[in-house]
Amino acid sequence: MRYIISLALASLPTLALAKVPNVVTDIPPVHALVAQVMGDVGSPVLLLEKGADEHDFQLRPSQMQSIADADTVIWIGPELTPWLDRAMVDSKAVSLPLLDAKATQTQPYPEGQGEEEEQHHADEPGHAHDGTDPHAWMNPANAEIWTDLIAANLSALDPEHAATYAANAAATKARIAAMDAEITAQLAPIKDKSFVTFHAAYGYFAAHYGLARHGSLALGDATTPGAAKLTALQAELKAGAYTCAFPEIQHDPAMLTQLMADTPTKLGQPLDPVGSSLDFGPDAYDTLMRTIAKTLADCLSAKP
Ligand SMILES: [Zn+2]
Repeated sequence: MRYIISLALASLPTLALAKVPNVVTDIPPVHALVAQVMGDVGSPVLLLEKGADEHDFQLRPSQMQSIADADTVIWIGPELTPWLDRAMVDSKAVSLPLLDAKATQTQPYPEGQGEEEEQHHADEPGHAHDGTDPHAWMNPANAEIWTDLIAANLSALDPEHAATYAANAAATKARIAAMDAEITAQLAPIKDKSFVTFHAAYGYFAAHYGLARHGSLALGDATTPGAAKLTALQAELKAGAYTCAFPEIQHDPAMLTQLMADTPTKLGQPLDPVGSSLDFGPDAYDTLMRTIAKTLADCLSAKP
């Protein structure tokens, strides 16, 4: 018995060379992409919790410790999660803010849907709030681009598993492409329908799938808009400008349902743009996108 144990110990130094990096991620769709690329090699940590709002989240001490212990933090960036930006001030981890990557396809918020002027902090160092919409995971082309960036980042930290990361990334991209084709076909019949959502998170989704027109109640960071915007939105709803309105699971639907009272707009099921109601894990990106598509299609394709 003793002999067997000493053999096992003798093999430890070899194992120790292949140290799998501690990876911390911000939101469920990014966590899902990293989990797919890591596969059986390791499991990334996810910070955002069930039902939480991506823009406004309070980290627990154990999560601060995860960030302190991380070899790399893979996240959308400070534009989406200022709470994580603040937590990473003293971090030694390799930061991979996906929105900043050169290959990422970014777009501004739709007009009037971003953050209101007084909420811009252009003078804050390191915060170039240039109106870029950070909800970029809802363009599957970005998810494919990011899959390669994630594999490259992990391979740089853990060259021994580079071949596995590359193979997993290829499989992940194929899965995203298949999902994208299915959603494209699913949404084709409702492209001309208009809808309004709780917050301005769907610009990438609408642009990618060619959805004609959509509006939002809350701003890009999910904060309440000013009175002028609310009045304008209510007038649009009264005039029948939107077929359906969609609340979100992270937010009280009351404001949206009040605005919709006595208008022809139909109430759809709540959307979950960041996937915080889903089962977290490698499947969450696929599920997030398919669930948004189905929720939109269920209401928008219904006969009046
Ligand atoms: Zn958002």
